[in-house]
Amino acid sequence: MNNLEEEKLMQLKGEMFENLQINQENYSDNGYVQTLVDVIRKVLEIEHIHFLISKELYKDIQYIVKVKHRYISIIDPYNPMDQQYCESLIQSNEYNKKIILNTAKEELIGYIFLKIEIDSFSSQFWDDFTHIIHHYFKQVFQILVINNEKRRYRLLQSVTNQLHSSIDIDAVLRKVLESLKEIYPNFYFTLQLSTDDFKKSDLSIETLDYTMENSPAMECFLTGNYRIEDDINRKESFMYFPLKGKQGIYGVLHIHANQSIIISEQDIEFIHILAQTAGNAMENARLYQHSKQLIKDLKLITNVSKKLNSILKLTDLVKYIVAELKNSFNAHEAGIVMFKEEYCEVLSGSTTYFYNEDCKSLLHEVKQVLLTKKEGLFLGDVNQSQYRFTSIPYASIMVESIEQDDNIIGSIIVLHQQPYYFSFETFKLFRSLTQHSSLAFSNAILREELEQLVITDYLTKLYTRNYLDDEMKQSMERDTQGVFLLIDIDNFKKVNDTYGHQNGDKVLVQIADIIKEKLITGGIAARWGGEEIAVYLPNYTFEEGMHLAHEFVQLIPKKSKPSVTISCGVSYWSIHQPESPLTLFKKADEALYEAKNTGKNRMIANI
Ligand code: GH3
Ligand code: MG
Ligand code: MG
Repeated sequence: MNNLEEEKLMQLKGEMFENLQINQENYSDNGYVQTLVDVIRKVLEIEHIHFLISKELYKDIQYIVKVKHRYISIIDPYNPMDQQYCESLIQSNEYNKKIILNTAKEELIGYIFLKIEIDSFSSQFWDDFTHIIHHYFKQVFQILVINNEKRRYRLLQSVTNQLHSSIDIDAVLRKVLESLKEIYPNFYFTLQLSTDDFKKSDLSIETLDYTMENSPAMECFLTGNYRIEDDINRKESFMYFPLKGKQGIYGVLHIHANQSIIISEQDIEFIHILAQTAGNAMENARLYQHSKQLIKDLKLITNVSKKLNSILKLTDLVKYIVAELKNSFNAHEAGIVMFKEEYCEVLSGSTTYFYNEDCKSLLHEVKQVLLTKKEGLFLGDVNQSQYRFTSIPYASIMVESIEQDDNIIGSIIVLHQQPYYFSFETFKLFRSLTQHSSLAFSNAILREELEQLVITDYLTKLYTRNYLDDEMKQSMERDTQGVFLLIDIDNFKKVNDTYGHQNGDKVLVQIADIIKEKLITGGIAARWGGEEIAVYLPNYTFEEGMHLAHEFVQLIPKKSKPSVTISCGVSYWSIHQPESPLTLFKKADEALYEAKNTGKNRMIANI
C-alpha cells in the first residue's frame, strides 16, 4: 500500500469516527448514512455510490432506523426479488467497482457499488477500506442499539409513572399507544378490549370480537401468550399481545405492520411489557372503580336499612323506597304491588304508570311468573321476552318479590324505557336493596293490619267508636262543618226473637254494608253500640246530611232481609255553630229518642 492509499484510509477513518464521537447521542435514522456517504465521496473523489446492506445487519434495530436514502438500499439476501435487484446493479454500467462487505466470519454485510474513473488502488487498500466500513457499521449499530434501549426504557419509565400516578384508564391507554407509535411509527396499533366500559375517545380502541373463536386475537386473549402472524404474500404482519393484569386478561394489543418483518427479541419484550402495563392499568382502574362502586352500594344499603327501620307508616315507606329506586337506578317508574287473591293492589306512593289501565295485565303476568319461578326478574326488553308479556311502553324491567313467612306477598318493580338499560351489577344491587326492605315491608303491612283490626268492628267491619271519635275530633279542627247521624234498628228484639240471634246478626251486617256502600265518596261509619250505628260526614252541609239520612231510612227496609226499618237522629256543626263530639252525639241521641217516640222509621234533626 502506498502513502497516498494510507493517507486516504486515515482520512476516511478520521472523519467517519470523529463524526461518530460527536453525534453519539443524536444518532438515529439517516445521520450515520449521510456521514458515511459524504466521507466516502470526499475521500475517493467520486460522484456515484450505492450501498446494498443486508437486512440481517439491522435485525436488532430495523424498526428504529428509517433508511430512506438514495444511496442506500436495505436488502434481504434470501429474498429472490432482492437478489434480482442486486444482480441488476452488478450487471449495470452505472458502477464499475463492486465491493463485497463481509464480516470476519465471512457473513455478508452487503455491497458497495462505486463509479470510479481510474481504479488505481491496490487490493490491500480495498480490503482495509471494507474493513473500516464494516467497523463503522458495527460502531453505529452499537450506538443505535444503546440509544434505542435508552429511549425505550425512558418511555417505559414514563408510562409506568403515569400508571402509578393515575387511575384514569383513558390516560394510561393513551400513553401506551403514544409510546408505541413513537418507537414504531410505521406500525398500526389497536387495543381490542374485552369489555365495552371504556370511554368513547379518539383512541383506536375496539371491543374484542368473541364470535371469532379461532382468531389469533381470541387465542392470544384466551391463552395469554403473544402471537405473530406473517402474511408473506401480502407482505403484512399481525401481532397480538395480551393486556394482562395479575388477575386476568383485559384485551389484546393488535399490531399491524405493512411489510413482512423480522421482529427482534428486544422488541417483543418491550411491547410485551407495555401491553402488560396497559393490562395492569386497566386492572387497577377496574379494581378502583369496583371498590368505589361497592362502597357506594354499601352506603346506599346501610342508609336505606337505617331509614327503613325508622319509617312506620306503609305509605311513607313506599314513597321512600320508590324515591330511592328512582334515584339510585335512574328508573323511569318504580312501584310496589301487593298480590291479592284476585287482583294486584298498587300501593300508594308508587309512580303514576302503575295505576294505568295497560299496566294491570303486566302486573298480573309478573305475579304469575314470580309465583311460579320463585325468583326475581331481570329483562333487557320486556316486549321481546320469553314470557310474552303484554306490550308496554317500557323495555328494561327489574322485579323482586316481597316475602312474608316464605310466602310471596307482593313485588317491587322498576322500569326504564331504554332496552338493556340496567346492568347485571345494578340488578344485584336492586336485589339486595329490596331484600333489605322486604322485612320492613312485611312489618309495616302487619302493623297496618293490626291497626285495622283495632279500629274495626269484628262483626260489621265498621269502624269502632274510638276511631270515629278521633276522626270527628280531627275533622272539627280541620273542616268547616259536618253532620252526625245516629241510627238504631227498630224493634230489633223482635227480629232476634222471630228469626234467631244469628239471623239478627246477618241483618246487622246487611245494614252495615248498605251504609258503607253509600259512603264511598266520604264519611265514616262506626258501630256505636249493639244495633246502633253512627255515621260522621265531614264537610257535609246540614241539607246534604239530611238527604243521606233520608236515603238510609228509605233504602234499608227495601234492601234488608228480613226487612227492618231504622230510626235516625241527626245533628250538625259548623264554624258558626261549634260543637264537641260529645254534644254532637247528645243532640243526635235526643233526636233519635224523639224519632222512636213519634212512630219510628224516620229521621229527626236536632240543631
Ligand atoms: P227499638 O229500638 O225500636 O226501641 O226496639 P228494639 O227492640 O231495637 O230495642 P233496643 O234498641 O232497646 O234493643 C236492642 C236489641 O238489639 C237488644 C238485643 O237483643 C239486640 N241486639 C243488640 N246487639 C245485637 C247484636 O249484636 N246482634 C243481635 N242479633 N242482636 C243484638
Ligand atoms: Mg238500640
Ligand atoms: Mg233498636
